[in-house]
Amino acid sequence: MLLPRADRTEPFWLSERDDAVADMQTRPALPHEVDIVVVGSGLSGALAVHHLTKAGEQSGGQQQLLLLDAQRLCEGATARNGGHCKPLTYLGFRAEAARHGAKTADEMYSFEAAHLAAYAELVRSEDLDCDMHVTRACDVFMDGADAAEAKKDYDERKRLFPASMARDDVREVSDVDELARMTGIKGGNSSPSARGKLDVFTHTPVHRIDESAPAGRGYTVVTDKGPVRTQSIIVCANAWTAGILPLFQDKIVPVRGTVCSVRPSANHRVGAQEGHGPLKMTYGIRHGPGEMDYTIPRQGRGRVPGMGDQSIILGGAKGVFNRDLAAWYSNNDDATLIPGTREYFTSLLPRVFKDWKVQDGQGEVERIWTGVLGYSHDLLPYVGRMGPGLYVSAGFTGHGMPRIPACSEAVAHMALSELRQGTTPSKALASPVNRILGALGVPERAAARESSL
Ligand SMILES: Cc1cc2nc3c(=O)[nH]c(=O)nc-3n(C[C@H](O)[C@H](O)[C@H](O)COP(=O)(O)OP(=O)(O)OC[C@H]3O[C@@H](n4cnc5c(N)ncnc54)[C@H](O)[C@@H]3O)c2cc1C
Repeated sequence: MLLPRADRTEPFWLSERDDAVADMQTRPALPHEVDIVVVGSGLSGALAVHHLTKAGEQSGGQQQLLLLDAQRLCEGATARNGGHCKPLTYLGFRAEAARHGAKTADEMYSFEAAHLAAYAELVRSEDLDCDMHVTRACDVFMDGADAAEAKKDYDERKRLFPASMARDDVREVSDVDELARMTGIKGGNSSPSARGKLDVFTHTPVHRIDESAPAGRGYTVVTDKGPVRTQSIIVCANAWTAGILPLFQDKIVPVRGTVCSVRPSANHRVGAQEGHGPLKMTYGIRHGPGEMDYTIPRQGRGRVPGMGDQSIILGGAKGVFNRDLAAWYSNNDDATLIPGTREYFTSLLPRVFKDWKVQDGQGEVERIWTGVLGYSHDLLPYVGRMGPGLYVSAGFTGHGMPRIPACSEAVAHMALSELRQGTTPSKALASPVNRILGALGVPERAAARESSL
């Protein structure tokens, strides 16, 4: 069975973890029956629970919620990603327009852009102690042909949807020194954070979901610690979704990725210090189509800008393993490193950044880890209703940060509405499979895509 592993590489983000939270179990034994079960405690599951709890507080009628995770709390992709929330603004626009229509592609990109403000508001309103730093994002093209294609994407979105691009400012810069002065597309980054105050069972793998509990309605969630009856389930298991819902076999595939943390080189300090280098921005270093490394400076801590440890998170290294399909595709191993990735990251920054010095541990890779991404067959996530009371939000394909919050909010409200009123919020959302387009309120296209499952 496709399940997360226990013996994983340890990411930088978990180096200060609280074991009591990581291994949380809020009761001695699983409850026999609850109103809503959320499976998976990553960003998707945590935000679904957040919205369910908020809705309960606002209406004065709290549902009984249960959050289950197969392993420790939030140790899947969310704990081992690059933390880079970078909405698409132009890259790939023509391809998305060809697949889904230009209007839908424009709406998808605008949907992603709205997430930057949503994260900032969440961190502010919940007073979350996490890294959240809004900065600029810089795409560096190492390949002229790739740059020319990206420019066409930019021009096309600007031509078709000038209002969407009115606030963007893209300049071609080929001088590394000038990058620091470059204005670009806004980007941001944050590290994962989990909330307490809910019934949580970690180390509780869900093996299957049986229909028709003895009462005649709802489901039985079959776990390692016994069965739980429920009216409503939200599956947020991302790369491991097919382990619970076999329908997703070949639709959401586990794919390995690699990220590391780097102590900045002395002459490339990030953050607020005097004389910092250009690494105050995030970088997408594009070596060619489909092959990109990215850097994120850690210069914010919670509500205090400039207080991060100034390290750099560096992800990618696909050039090392892309051709060895078995090393990464349909591979659920986040316990071992992919050979060659440490060496690749170690040599990358001196190669790319002018005068990058490696000295006394500075400028070197500090920690490196692997993670499992949930790749969907057409690169779009699956978000919506699968059947009475059964919802899914998964398959974020390495691009979850600018999409997950609104998707989790959508499935949480759909599930709650069905539970309370017996209806989902709109006709569109009642269709059997609502992809991200359904969450966007594009019903006819969501319906058209149902045939893909
Ligand atoms: C190496 C790497 C780098 C990335 N970098 C970025 C980036 O820079 N920017 C970006 O936007 N995105 C990035 N991503 C993708 C991003 O991390 C994901 O889209 C996002 O974290 C998915 O969140 P999630 O909650 O849906 O899934 P996850 O965080 O994977 O959570 C799924 C949870 O479900 C649990 N689970 C699975 N099966 C079961 C079961 N049977 N029973 C109980 N529990 C189960 C798992 O244990 C896990 O906790 C990256 C991902 C990886 C792996």
